[in-house]
Amino acid sequence: MFDDLRDLYQEVILDHGKSPRNFRPLDNPTCLAHGNNPLCGDKLVVYLTLDADGADGRIEDVSFQGEGCAISVASASMMTEILKGKTRDEAKKLFEAFHDMCTKDDFDIAELAGYDEDAVERLVMLSGVKDFPIRVKCATLAWHTMQAAVSGDKDISTE
Ligand code: ZN
Repeated sequence: MFDDLRDLYQEVILDHGKSPRNFRPLDNPTCLAHGNNPLCGDKLVVYLTLDADGADGRIEDVSFQGEGCAISVASASMMTEILKGKTRDEAKKLFEAFHDMCTKDDFDIAELAGYDEDAVERLVMLSGVKDFPIRVKCATLAWHTMQAAVSGDKDISTE
C-alpha cells in the first residue's frame, strides 16, 4: 500500500475511534448482543432494528455502545455506517468478506466485485490490521457481535 494512502486510512480510523458514530443505545431494538474481547478488554453492545424477519429484513437502524481500544471502537463506528439500509443477508456477506480480508493472505479483492463500493473501501481500510494479528479480534469484534445479534445470540466472546 502507498504510504499516503495508509496515512489517510489511519486518519479515518483515528477519527472514528475518537468520535464514534451511532454511539448510543436504540430505544426498541429488534435484537442486540454483547461482544467481549478479553485479550484486549474491548466490550461492546450492538443494537439493531430490522424492518422484517428473515434474510430480507432490512437494517433500519444500528448503533453501539461500550468501551475498547481505538481499533475496536472505530470498526464498530464504521460498521454502523456501512450496515444502515442493508439487508440481514448483505450484512452477513459483508461480515464474511471482512473476516476473510483480515485473516486470509490470499484474499482477492476481485471477489468483492458487485458489493457496495463505499462499504468495501471502508472494510479495506480496516483490514490493514491483518499485519497485526492480535488486532484482528479488535477489528472484527463489532461484526461478530452484530452477527450474533441477528442470529439470536446474546453474548459472544473472541476467546
Ligand atoms: Zn482492542
